[in-house]
Amino acid sequence: MNILFLGPQGSGKGTQARLLAQKFELFYFDNGGFLRELAKKNDVVRETINSGKLVPNKEMASYIEAFFDEKQIWDGIIFDGFPRTIEQYDFFKKWLSDKKVTLDFVFVLIIREKTTIERLSARRMDPATGIIYNLITNPPSAEVNMDSLVQREDDKPEAIKKRLQIYKEMTEPLVNKLKEESKVFEIDGERAIDEIQKEIERIIKNEKN
Ligand code: AMP
Repeated sequence: MNILFLGPQGSGKGTQARLLAQKFELFYFDNGGFLRELAKKNDVVRETINSGKLVPNKEMASYIEAFFDEKQIWDGIIFDGFPRTIEQYDFFKKWLSDKKVTLDFVFVLIIREKTTIERLSARRMDPATGIIYNLITNPPSAEVNMDSLVQREDDKPEAIKKRLQIYKEMTEPLVNKLKEESKVFEIDGERAIDEIQKEIERIIKNEKN
């Protein structure tokens, strides 16, 4: 079983994908985190991410191929953040068929633009652990030194706008295409984390029976 999560920035797809991966013992693939790790030694990737733009499709495809070949995992994966354009999806479909696996569920978390801006502006990262907090909805515990937390370059207002624009132009057409080819479930992402998680679990259990 492979699952794809889509949704605008700050929709909580990473949180939901992580929880689901634990629950169903799936491999969680966070494409944004993977690229941020790569950016530490790759200047071009770092500059692309910091400006809020997308890494070019060809490079993205080769990174994905190499990552999973090295891990030798092609099934039981939750994909978060890849594919997010139609071109990436075309590569992804071929990759799935080469590996003889399927895409079983697509969850699209829906939130308003206002919510994206509110959530991302409150987001802080611990550079030592990579853990992402939200000062409003998921504040760090007392042991965490608040002064050490940083705001990601791409969570700053200009980059947020750029990322939202890219989502509308590149990812929404992909959602429409997926609706024709896959099992797509649109989920209201404005609700509490556990409420959303329960809905996702319910959908998977119902569909499997
Ligand atoms: P995220 O944390 O998922 O918002 O990703 C952070 C940044 O990584 C994005 O703003 C892009 O610059 C880059 N990125 C993530 N996923 C992709 C993708 N599928 N294709 C190209 N670039 C990506």
